[in-house]
Amino acid sequence: METARFRLRKKTAYSLPEICCVCGSPAGRGQIKVYGSSWLSPRLVTLLFPLCEECETAFNRVSRRRRAGCGYGTLVVVPLLVGWVVTFFLGKGEANPPATAIGGWLLAAAGAVIVIGLLYAAVFPVLISRQEREAYRRVVRAVRIESCNPPGLFGDGDVVIRFACEPFATLFQKQNERDLLEIRKAR
Ligand SMILES: [Zn+2]
Repeated sequence: METARFRLRKKTAYSLPEICCVCGSPAGRGQIKVYGSSWLSPRLVTLLFPLCEECETAFNRVSRRRRAGCGYGTLVVVPLLVGWVVTFFLGKGEANPPATAIGGWLLAAAGAVIVIGLLYAAVFPVLISRQEREAYRRVVRAVRIESCNPPGLFGDGDVVIRFACEPFATLFQKQNERDLLEIRKAR
């Protein structure tokens, strides 16, 4: 769902309506980061948009769990690999060193954690309820930076942002009239 697309002069921040960019409720403290990429950089533009408490909670519930999985995985894998490197050097030069055997186990354990992590990533979408998944998706899709061009030969640079929430888009348009270059038809 998309209701509006605007092409604006490229800026680091725009004037933001004080309502949630997902559902139009009064904004809380939360914000969502939206990235815009170009051939120059995958994160050429970073813009923040306000969220209400409910949408922020829905977003955090999924993204936190996703991050936690990666974080714990790294916390376990890194020491195992360091242990393997240490035992590798300890065992160097000996014919059948016990350190090398321990190192082999550490390496195998690190491999197992990585495999478990990949399985978790594959199963993860199934572990969250449909309702949670949809709420998360709605937040992620509320604002998209469709394209952006850095300032250069062709002018000041511009960004194309599209919004799914109509009340937010209307206010945003009003508040940023001076930087608005073009209103594009929603597809
Ligand atoms: Zn909201």
